[in-house]
Amino acid sequence: MTGSLDDKEILNIAQTTLSKYKLCDHCLGRLYAKIETDLTNKKRGQLIRSYLKEIRKIEVENCWLCSGLFNEIPHFTDLITDSLKGYDFETFLIGSKVDEDIISREQELFDFAGSEYSEPIKTELNRELGKILEKKLKQEVDFKNPTIMVVIDTPFDIINLQISSLFIYGRYKKYKRGIPQTKWFCKICQGKGCKRCDYTGKLYDLSVEELIAKRFLEVTKGDGESFHGCGREDIDALMLGNGRPFVLEIKNPKIRKPDLSKMGNFINSTNENIIEISNLHFSDKAEVIRLKDAGFRKTYRIVFRGKKPINNEKLKKAAQSLRGKKISQLTPSRVAHRRANMVRERHIYNCNIESVNDAMATLTLEAESGTYIKELVSGDDGRTKPNISEMIGILCEVTELDVIEIKGE
Ligand SMILES: [Zn+2]
Ligand SMILES: [Zn+2]
Repeated sequence: MTGSLDDKEILNIAQTTLSKYKLCDHCLGRLYAKIETDLTNKKRGQLIRSYLKEIRKIEVENCWLCSGLFNEIPHFTDLITDSLKGYDFETFLIGSKVDEDIISREQELFDFAGSEYSEPIKTELNRELGKILEKKLKQEVDFKNPTIMVVIDTPFDIINLQISSLFIYGRYKKYKRGIPQTKWFCKICQGKGCKRCDYTGKLYDLSVEELIAKRFLEVTKGDGESFHGCGREDIDALMLGNGRPFVLEIKNPKIRKPDLSKMGNFINSTNENIIEISNLHFSDKAEVIRLKDAGFRKTYRIVFRGKKPINNEKLKKAAQSLRGKKISQLTPSRVAHRRANMVRERHIYNCNIESVNDAMATLTLEAESGTYIKELVSGDDGRTKPNISEMIGILCEVTELDVIEIKGE
């Protein structure tokens, strides 16, 4: 940045400006904020006035531009401090709204005096509030990733807090069938509650999401949550092995450091034989994105029934030929109403017979993320190719499907 405060041209313009507009030291100094940046605007204004031998001082309350705004800083810091009581946070950032009349006067001043070295009034206000609050709250301003963004509406004395979510990673196992991963709202009332859903708003009483989130919401005093699972199992499938990764997002929490091992113990002991969680750690939004994008391989235990007794040798051959094979699946008829109708190719990595007993058989199968397992067995009227029914020449249906391992991670 070129220019200095005692530059003749700059002083000339400042002189003309001051003869037209009564400006306080803040508002005068702010016109030259990008010169000698180690000064506050107030000091800079004082310095220019002394170079100009301008002894007439304009008090903040008489300033044509801010009309006293900078005198209210102690009041604003009190308001902000009060509004933050009870919240855990490490960093914060201040934003502000300023009266529209002030903004339009500022524009008029910039048009007259030039804005080459200037900064907007909000920038100064936010910075000055931030400096005082850093000392008062003993917390730091963070421009990139503040825990709490405080926006003060100065004409109305209204404080709005934007609190960043708290993210907790874990893995869950599900030991009971018939529990969906996430809340399922009643389709008729969309969650409001109606006769059909017995005024619960939900299709299922329990969900993995609610069983885990309930305690976290109590302890962190959050006002909402989102459950981000790394894929999902069917409602009637168990989730076993090392568990399924998830990230629980708590919205607007007051407490940000709950004791995770206590939380885990509490949730596990109150949900024995239903769910179990492990590997809890504090996480972030990036991990949610990673989990959502991750194509983790899964190993399933599949129990299915044939229309006729199943031949062990034929099934063995089918299992062998599925290993390392790519299958193609047209969107299954059961989900066609909510997914685009298209062919998806999926890898099958491994397939082993556990048992064959008359018309019943059990397989373990390791497949790429996103494989439709029920359709791989039934064939879904030829929509999945190849499929086990076709390979052994008997129409088969899955009766039990469990996820026994999620790889990667
Ligand atoms: Zn002013
Ligand atoms: Zn309903």
